[in-house]
Amino acid sequence: MTDCLFCKIFRKEIKSKVVYEDDEIMAFEDINPQAPVHILIIPAKHIENLNEITEQDKDLIGKMFLVAKKIAHEKNISADGYRTVFNTNKNAGQAVFHLHLHLLGGRKMAWPPG
Ligand code: AMP
Ligand code: ZN
Repeated sequence: MTDCLFCKIFRKEIKSKVVYEDDEIMAFEDINPQAPVHILIIPAKHIENLNEITEQDKDLIGKMFLVAKKIAHEKNISADGYRTVFNTNKNAGQAVFHLHLHLLGGRKMAWPPG
């Protein structure tokens, strides 16, 4: 999608601090981190949010979680723990309408989330 912020980040038309990339998935540091580790994992494919995923996307979504696991290991937060979140639409506060998995760690998280 031409006008989408995260499509532009994937195409490197907008700079980001990349921590993982292949032809299907990219992960980069969140510009406004909410925890010592705050990474966003996105597919190259423009999907607005979890409401729009289909059966065809199941390997892609699974791979996003494998990338999250790998980064958590690299950032040394696997043992202490971390949170993975998809925000969907307004009640979850979704601000960017290109699917992204938040990986948050490095501090204790509250539950229930605010
Ligand atoms: P959400 O509220 O789930 O849609 O999350 C969008 C996230 O994207 C927020 O945590 C923002 O801080 C982050 N964000 C917005 N613009 C950028 C950018 N240019 N580079 C990195 N992260 C960004
Ligand atoms: Zn997009």
